[in-house]
Amino acid sequence: MTDLQQVLDEIALDAAMAADRGVVAQYIPELAKVDPRQFGIAVALPDGQVVCAGDAETAFSIQSVSKVFTLSMALGKYGDSLWSRVGREPSGDPFNSIVQLEQEKGRPRNPFINAGAIAIADLVLSGHQPREAIGEIVRFIRHLADDDSIRIDERVARSETEHGDRNASLAHFMRSFGRFSHQVDHVLGVYFHQCAIAMTCHQLARAGLFLASQGQNPLTGTQVVPPQRARRINAIMLMCGHYDGSGEFAYRVGLPGKSGVGGGILAIAPGKASIAVWSPGLDTVGNSKLGTAALEQLAKRMEWSVFGA
Ligand code: GLU
Repeated sequence: MTDLQQVLDEIALDAAMAADRGVVAQYIPELAKVDPRQFGIAVALPDGQVVCAGDAETAFSIQSVSKVFTLSMALGKYGDSLWSRVGREPSGDPFNSIVQLEQEKGRPRNPFINAGAIAIADLVLSGHQPREAIGEIVRFIRHLADDDSIRIDERVARSETEHGDRNASLAHFMRSFGRFSHQVDHVLGVYFHQCAIAMTCHQLARAGLFLASQGQNPLTGTQVVPPQRARRINAIMLMCGHYDGSGEFAYRVGLPGKSGVGGGILAIAPGKASIAVWSPGLDTVGNSKLGTAALEQLAKRMEWSVFGA
């Protein structure tokens, strides 16, 4: 049997030696300060074991990876009626594009592009003050990871709020179609804070484990979502989780995954593992350059691709 620890150590060593590490996200000043030499990887297995290498205990900004968790929450609250607000097709456009929104009359392509995630934040906000909705998201993630130390990085939240004109435009544009239930600044408050949650690879791999285990969190025994819903969230991750690099990620890695501009990726090998990888440098479409390369190697060596060995 392949020794997972050895595979991860070799992957971390390769990453440490990589010359081209991509470029750290520049449009959120707090993220632009992150040291690009870092790399961490953690694999959570259904028996609760977590195998790690590199900087797996360093917290980073999960950014869009948070969208997997808010989608899971909103599906729990609204069920399939959620799909009247967002679609589930890959966009083929950059993550913050406004072009499709006009053509599709304010209904974003999928819940993982920014417009879609902002629409989901509007749903999560229902019945709450923004502060309560943010608290609910953090509590949900802490419960999934079985770790109460998970926090929001307020500096990142502030930095994004100050430079969030594009996201504000997306929100106002959707609101102009009468599709928004709340005030734009309240919804953006929720969205920016969910993106600013800081987690380690170790914590993130554990938090994603329910998607590898038919919706059940094997650490706590909780059925987080029904098995069919876990399967569907994985399908959306596979098709839409890497912006307009989703096809390339499926081709190279072959696993459902969701990336964030902080350089993190959560990938799911159904029935086998939940994997979190982080390296802050991004490729040209905004996905972690070394993180993607690491997952490609891992899926190949462990024969974890959903498309076969
Ligand atoms: N908070 C980021 C934004 O809205 C998230 C982008 C991402 O990680 O894809 O621009």
